[in-house]
Amino acid sequence: MKSPRRRKVLVLGSTGSIGTSALKVAKDIPDRMEIVGLAAARSVEALVAQVAETGVKQVCVTDAASAKQARSLLPADVTVFDGTRGLVDIVQATEADLVLVAIVGVAGLAPALEAIELGKDLAVASKEILVMAGEAVMSAAQRKGVLVLPVDSEHNAIYQCLEGRDPAQVRRLILTASGGPFRQASAEDLENVTLEQALKHPTWTMGRKITIDSATLFNKGLEMIEARWLFGVPMNRVDVIVHPQSIVHSMVEFVDSSVLAQLSHSDMCFPIQYAVTWPDRVVNTLRPLNFAELATLQFEAPREDVFPALRLARQAGEIGGTLPAVLNAANEVAVEAFLNGRIKFTAIWHHVEKVMEKHQVMAHPTLDQLIEADGWARGMVIQ
Ligand code: NDP
Repeated sequence: MKSPRRRKVLVLGSTGSIGTSALKVAKDIPDRMEIVGLAAARSVEALVAQVAETGVKQVCVTDAASAKQARSLLPADVTVFDGTRGLVDIVQATEADLVLVAIVGVAGLAPALEAIELGKDLAVASKEILVMAGEAVMSAAQRKGVLVLPVDSEHNAIYQCLEGRDPAQVRRLILTASGGPFRQASAEDLENVTLEQALKHPTWTMGRKITIDSATLFNKGLEMIEARWLFGVPMNRVDVIVHPQSIVHSMVEFVDSSVLAQLSHSDMCFPIQYAVTWPDRVVNTLRPLNFAELATLQFEAPREDVFPALRLARQAGEIGGTLPAVLNAANEVAVEAFLNGRIKFTAIWHHVEKVMEKHQVMAHPTLDQLIEADGWARGMVIQ
C-alpha cells in the first residue's frame, strides 16, 4: 500500500486565528503535516514561540522594524525574510508543497501566484484574493495543474459535497451564514451598534476584520464571489441561507433536488485538516457531533433589506471585471475605519456602495488593472 502523503506546509499569516489553528492541526496529525515556514506582519513574540514549536528555519516578517526585532530574537540559523517582497521570497525558498494563505486582505495574492508558478498547491483562507483576482488565480492554477483547496469553512464544505461529481449535475451552491451578532436587529438598532457589539460573533472566534465582515454580511458576500470562482458556477447559482447554529457549513443542491451537506462543530481545524489531507480522511482529536444534544438546526432567509452587503456582492459578482476588486478594497478600508472608530457601522455599506457607483468597470482586466482598481478604491476618501 502507498504510504500516505506528509504535506510540507508554509503558513502565511501564522500568528492569526487561522494560522494558530493550522499549527494545532499539525500537532494533531504529525504524520500528515509538517510546517516548514511561517509568515506574519508584526507579531514577533508569537512568531518566535511558533519557531520554537515547529523548528522551522525560514520565516517572513513583513514589517521592517518587526523583522529586525525577530532577527535579534531568533536563532542564527533561522532566515528572516522581510517586506512585502519577503512573502514571495519565502515561497521560493521553502521546500513547501502546500502554501496556506491566511493573511487578511489581498497581501496574499502575490505569494499565492508565485506558489502556483512554482507548482505548489494552495490552501486558501484569504477569500479576498479570490474575490479580487479569482479568474487569474484559478486559470493560473489550471495551467500549472496545481490544486486550490478551500479553507473557508463554507467552501471547504462544498468541496467535500462536490467531490468527484460532474458540475453539470449541480443546481445551486447554498452557503450557510450564522447571521452574525445582529441577525435579529432592526435597521434602527444597527445605526447605533458599538465596536464591542460588532466584534462579538455568536459562533466563531476569528480575526477582527472577518468578524466585522460577518456582522455586516460582507463576509458572506465575499464568499459568494469566492464560490463563483472556486467552483466555476455563475452568481445566480450561489445562494445564501442563514443558519444560526453554524453546524451545517454549506450545502450543494443537485439537479435531482437532492441536497448534500457537511456538518461539524464550528472549529477551523476541521477545514484546515481536510485541505491538508485531501482526499483522505484522517483520525484526529476534534470533537464529534452529538445530534441528540444539538436538538435544533434552524434555517431562515437572509434579510437583504437590512443588510445590503449581499445585494452589493451579487451585483459585483454578476458584473465582474474590476468591480469585485473595488468592492473588496472599499470594504477593507471601511472596516479599518470602523475598527478605528472613524465611521459608524452602517457607514461601511454606504461607503462600499458609493465607491462601487463611482467606479468605471473594466471588463476582463489584467492583474495590473486589478491592482490599479484596488488602489483606486482604497484612495476614495471616506466621507
Ligand atoms: P487574523 O487577523 O487573526 O490574522 C491575520 C494574520 O495575517 C496574522 O498572522 C497577521 O500577522 C498576518 N498578516 C496580516 N497582514 C499581513 C501582511 N501584510 N503580511 C504578512 N502577514 C500579514 O486573521 P484571520 O486568521 O481571522 O483571517 C485570515 C484570513 O482567513 C482572512 O482573509 C479571513 O477572511 C480568512 N478566514 C478566516 C477565518 C477564521 O476563522 N478566522 C475563517 C475563514 C476565512 P500579525 O499577527 O503579525 O499581524
